[in-house]
Amino acid sequence: MSENKIIDGKEISEKIRKRIKSFGSELIEKSGKVPGLAVVLVGENPASRVYVRNKTEKTKEVGFQSIEHKLNEDVSEEKLLGLVEKLNKDDNVQGILVQLPLPKHINSDKVLDSILPVKDVDGFHAVNVGKLWSGLNSLVPCTPLGCSILLKMINDDLSGQHAVIIGRSNIVGKPMAALLLGMNATVSICHSRTKDLPAIVRQADIVVPAVGIPEMVKGDWIREGAVVIDVGINRIERDGKNILVGDANYNECYDKASRITPVPGGVGPMTIACLLLNTLLTSYTQFDLEMPDLSSILKDL
Ligand code: NAD
Repeated sequence: MSENKIIDGKEISEKIRKRIKSFGSELIEKSGKVPGLAVVLVGENPASRVYVRNKTEKTKEVGFQSIEHKLNEDVSEEKLLGLVEKLNKDDNVQGILVQLPLPKHINSDKVLDSILPVKDVDGFHAVNVGKLWSGLNSLVPCTPLGCSILLKMINDDLSGQHAVIIGRSNIVGKPMAALLLGMNATVSICHSRTKDLPAIVRQADIVVPAVGIPEMVKGDWIREGAVVIDVGINRIERDGKNILVGDANYNECYDKASRITPVPGGVGPMTIACLLLNTLLTSYTQFDLEMPDLSSILKDL
């Protein structure tokens, strides 16, 4: 297998975090303030705990302040909204992330929309969603932002290319579509009600599976030379071992694709890097300093 077919998200995300650290230290010097990222975790969901631990660790590594709030599973919506309100007003907090999923008795949309748009480093607030779809500067959801950075490293302008996204969630599928449109791709969004999915995927120059079904996308769905950006992270048992696989059958798709992201080590690490990138960018705004262009931060990675 030739190594350069693989898009190494782990290596690229490490480089991005180094850039963030260097831009961040300049920002701290200029402003005299340290960017703070508050992460709110409700309950004991094991996957969420791992994500939060990871986010905290990486936040500290780039020299930002990490503020963690762990709340019991049975916390009331009112109390959670009260905490967000406090963080909105806290000058030491530039980014607020409420880890999803939230327990069923809490209205997630209400909580996400209570975060100040300028502190919404997940990019889920309706104001940021609207700005993204209007082509305005906004905080962009981290996973699709990470995918778009990987794609830009291959090709900045996707004019004439057909991108097929599988999944229409607010977190991945829909914002991914907005970003790909912004890169001039022709975009199809497929989902659980789409008829003859393989036939649509076969037309794609770029395939972005974001479904949550292990190895759903088969090799014979992939057009020769297509780029596969696999967002899926699925834990399965194989040969008595617990392993992570994507939504694409990696070995099969590898043979057909020109470039492909592995799971793990593809899109996953880009998500955290982009969370820190969003925290850096919004800190410039909140510290009244001119924000550098994203392309200058990511130049020659
Ligand atoms: P979701 O459950 O919110 O959305 C899944 C989407 O897949 C839905 O829009 C649904 O219509 C579609 N779908 C379901 N079954 C389908 C089928 N048979 N055919 C076509 N479409 C179908 O999930 P999500 O939050 O968007 O996450 C999707 C995947 O991405 C999951 O595996 C998740 O773990 C992973 N994920 C990874 C990262 C990362 O950092 N790499 C971040 C977020 C999510």
